[in-house]
Amino acid sequence: MTRIDLNVPFHEKDEARRLGARWDAKKKVWFIPDGADASAVRRWIPEEPEINVRSRRYFVLKTERACWKCGASTAVFAFGLPAEHEMREVSDDGDKAGTWEKAEMSALPHYISFLAEEPRRRIQSMTSIFRPDFSQTTQSWYWMNHCEGCGMKQGDFELFSEPDEAFFPVSAERVAAIRVEEVREPFAAMAGEFGIDVGFLPE
Ligand SMILES: [Zn+2]
Repeated sequence: MTRIDLNVPFHEKDEARRLGARWDAKKKVWFIPDGADASAVRRWIPEEPEINVRSRRYFVLKTERACWKCGASTAVFAFGLPAEHEMREVSDDGDKAGTWEKAEMSALPHYISFLAEEPRRRIQSMTSIFRPDFSQTTQSWYWMNHCEGCGMKQGDFELFSEPDEAFFPVSAERVAAIRVEEVREPFAAMAGEFGIDVGFLPE
């Protein structure tokens, strides 16, 4: 379980607090903590989480990198999507969503702020180091890797945007170090960026 963010209208905030909701001052959102009973605040739980990417199947990627903090080798995880996945535009406030369009290229979704139940359960059954955390860099919550040794956050910018890092492999060694597992289940998420597959994902 992760915490549940709520859609609480401003004039209902006192009632939300009374019913157990807590205020996240950084994200400016009311939420129910991990593991708490959400039944009292059910009417504020968003019915359809905003998603901008979906696929009928996906890949879980696992590789190793040196932790920037402690220097030890740690596993890091990511999702990969086959070329037939679909994407759509969602406005910043989540009010408007465009039509679904076929992506036509495989991709590595990251800065994932929302992950649907099936892939969330799947990744949680595989590891505890990949979980939502708050990034000071982006000032937002997203699904983030953590060092197996020291627990330090391993942010998505380094993993996906630095050449020859874990999920932006340039060298043959980096490519070969990525293990790919196909999951024949639906994937849906809200992702901020989509990394490039340089040829290591299967069809
Ligand atoms: Zn570390």
